[in-house]
Amino acid sequence: MTEIIRLDGVERSYGQPAVLACAGVSLTIDQGELVAVVGPSGSGKSTLLNLIGTLDRPTAGSATIAGMDVQQMPDAELSALRSYRIGFVFQQFHLAEGVSALDIVADGMLYAGVPRAERRRRAGLALERVGLGHRTGHKPNQLSGGERQRVAIARAVVGDPVLLLADEPTGNLDSESGAAVVELLRELNSSGTTVVVITHDPELAAAFPRRIAVRDGRVVSDSRATEGAAGASEEEAA
Ligand code: ADP
Repeated sequence: MTEIIRLDGVERSYGQPAVLACAGVSLTIDQGELVAVVGPSGSGKSTLLNLIGTLDRPTAGSATIAGMDVQQMPDAELSALRSYRIGFVFQQFHLAEGVSALDIVADGMLYAGVPRAERRRRAGLALERVGLGHRTGHKPNQLSGGERQRVAIARAVVGDPVLLLADEPTGNLDSESGAAVVELLRELNSSGTTVVVITHDPELAAAFPRRIAVRDGRVVSDSRATEGAAGASEEEAA
C-alpha cells in the first residue's frame, strides 16, 4: 500500500500561553482509504485536517503528504502540492455567488494552465459525476444545499486529486442530502481517491471503514471495521 499521509509526533500550538490544538499526533493513511475523523467540537479535528491538507504547518513533529515533507517545502511548492494533489470541501460550500456551476467547477482548475474551453469540458464531466449534469448553468442561489455541496465536491475533484479532504461536509444539510453527499464521497473513494472526512456525527462516522477519534488534540482511538462485517465487530488499533 502506498502511504499518502504520514504524521510523526505532529503538534500545532496557538497563542501565548500556548494551546496545543494538535498535541502529538502520529498516524499514517494509505492511498485508497476512506477515513472519518470524529470528536467533539474543539477537539482539534479541523486543525488536524488543515495540517494534513498543508494549509498549515506543524509547530513540532513532521508531516509527509503525498511524499512531500511539509516542514521542508517552500510556500510556493506547498501551494502547488495543494492545488494539484489535494481537493477540499468545507461545511460552508464557499461557492462564488452569481457564477454558474460550470464556471465554479472550471475555476477549480485555474492553477493548471488548462485552456478555458477544456476546463469547462472537464467541469461538465465532473458535474455529471456528482449527478448535476442537468444543473450546469445554475448559480448557487438557484441550487439546494445538497446540490451546492455537490458543486463544491465537483470543484474539489475536477483536477483528479489523490486526496480529498472534507470538513463537516454534511454540517449544513438535512439528513437526506447529507446521506447523498456521503454516498458520493464513498463512490469517489471506490474509484481510487483517498478520502478523509471530519464529522462530529457518530452515526455518519459509523458507515466509514476506518474511524480516527480525536480528543484534546490527541488520537484516542483508531478503529477499522472488520472486513465483510459492515458496522458489526471492530478491531481496535493501538
Ligand atoms: P474542532 O475542529 O474539533 O472543533 P479545532 O481544530 O477547530 O477543533 O480547534 C481545536 C482547539 O484549538 C480549540 O481549543 C480551538 O479554540 C483552538 N484553535 C483552533 N484554531 C485556533 C486559532 N487560529 N487560534 C487560536 N486557537 C485556535
